[in-house]
Amino acid sequence: MRRFHNWSRTQASAEVAWESPRSEAEVADVLSRARRQGKRVRPVGSGHSWSAIAVPEAIALDLSNLAAPLEIDAARRTIRVQAGIQLKTLTATLDRVGLAMPILGSVSEQTIAGATSTGTHGSSLAYGNLASLIEELVIVTPAGERHVLRRGQGDFDAACVGLGALGIVTELVLRVSTAFALVGEVQTRPILEIARDLASIGASTDFVKVWWLPGSEGAQIFRYHRTPLPPADVRLERWLDTHVTNRVLFPAALAVSARLPQLTRRINRAVAQSYLERPAVPMRSDLAFNVAMPPIHRETEYAFDLADAPAALTAIAESIERERLAVNFPVEVRFVREDAAWMSPAYGRPTVQIGGYMSDSVDLPRFFQRFEEISQSLAGRPHWGKEMKVDAAYVRQVFPRRDDFVALARRWDPDGTLRNAFLDRVLGQE
Ligand SMILES: Cc1cc2nc3c(=O)[nH]c(=O)nc-3n(C[C@H](O)[C@H](O)[C@H](O)COP(=O)(O)OP(=O)(O)OC[C@H]3O[C@@H](n4cnc5c(N)ncnc54)[C@H](O)[C@@H]3O)c2cc1C
Repeated sequence: MRRFHNWSRTQASAEVAWESPRSEAEVADVLSRARRQGKRVRPVGSGHSWSAIAVPEAIALDLSNLAAPLEIDAARRTIRVQAGIQLKTLTATLDRVGLAMPILGSVSEQTIAGATSTGTHGSSLAYGNLASLIEELVIVTPAGERHVLRRGQGDFDAACVGLGALGIVTELVLRVSTAFALVGEVQTRPILEIARDLASIGASTDFVKVWWLPGSEGAQIFRYHRTPLPPADVRLERWLDTHVTNRVLFPAALAVSARLPQLTRRINRAVAQSYLERPAVPMRSDLAFNVAMPPIHRETEYAFDLADAPAALTAIAESIERERLAVNFPVEVRFVREDAAWMSPAYGRPTVQIGGYMSDSVDLPRFFQRFEEISQSLAGRPHWGKEMKVDAAYVRQVFPRRDDFVALARRWDPDGTLRNAFLDRVLGQE
């Protein structure tokens, strides 16, 4: 028995039993025993969600013994993996044979099933979120079934962003690409101008994101272009960013801004000029997508229809300025191609993800509250892995396939074995 806690230590469970199955049969066995005993089970990945989505109540199902790459088909550019593999192991495995993930988010500590189950994404209108790379998945359910689901068939679109509510994913086949390098280009522009221009910025290149440190002269647009140049060896720079900048210097600046919030904007200005506007060198794609592991902080994030995103970003920026909120982390804007996964925040619409991030400081509750009020007034869909104050009625309003998803969950998990308090709240208990 031990407790679960997430990466930011903002979510924790009571003492729960841990199961670490070594085969799919053992996964099925854990589910059937738990169902018979009326105990709730939660699959846990790397615990990198800020929301309480992974918090176990009786049994934590840890898939770290089911974390192997199984088969690479270089000709078809696919890889079959066990569900508990971490993204960093997956990318290293691909790199050894000249392949790469076509898109990644900011870090690669997550497991593939944990990441796809919440709709984890990078930034690209050309590529979808990580779940959109799935070609096939295997899922075992508390009802005692094993489903092999292929893209375009049956319940695939329900299961690939499954919130851990339909069953335990045990294997996936992913579509990958040949290895590639990216070179970054940084442009600084006023945030309100960027907000007006989001559609053309999103379409300007395959990989583009925006960071805005409130109080700084402008926001940074980071564009990444494919390059034939050999990638530079950035291991030392990345090590220094991770272990010195993000473990010592940035936390020191955050401690100052927590004590003296009135200095936050000045600190942000200095950070933006000295750190964010640095010129970039060609990098292996995974190193360009990932950033150095950030200091502990909290995140909320909503997904908007590309058409509503200018209004959302404008309102968020104006509210930060009007209320002089001491926001000590970047507001991040990313793009995601629309997809067909029922519970994906990018379901059925080209999407702009706007993230509000902050390390603990006096204005955090007010900032997150304003951020969520604005997001919900524009039909924003919450990122399942981030902090949110939403109920089942709101989820039903903004996820058009919510009722179908809940009906399928009732068939595959008739006794709610895979539920926890978070899923009860956001999916409802009817
Ligand atoms: C530092 C940091 C950076 C991040 N960057 C990004 C980013 O760039 N883009 C982005 O979109 N998100 C980002 N996130 C959020 C993160 O990607 C998601 O919260 C992700 O779901 C975490 O994956 P995990 O492996 O830690 O899973 P967990 O958080 O442990 O679990 C997430 C969900 O997956 C379910 N699950 C896990 N394994 C299985 C399985 N085998 N079968 C069925 N369900 C399963 C769990 O039950 C839970 O519902 C970041 C988080 C952190 C802490």
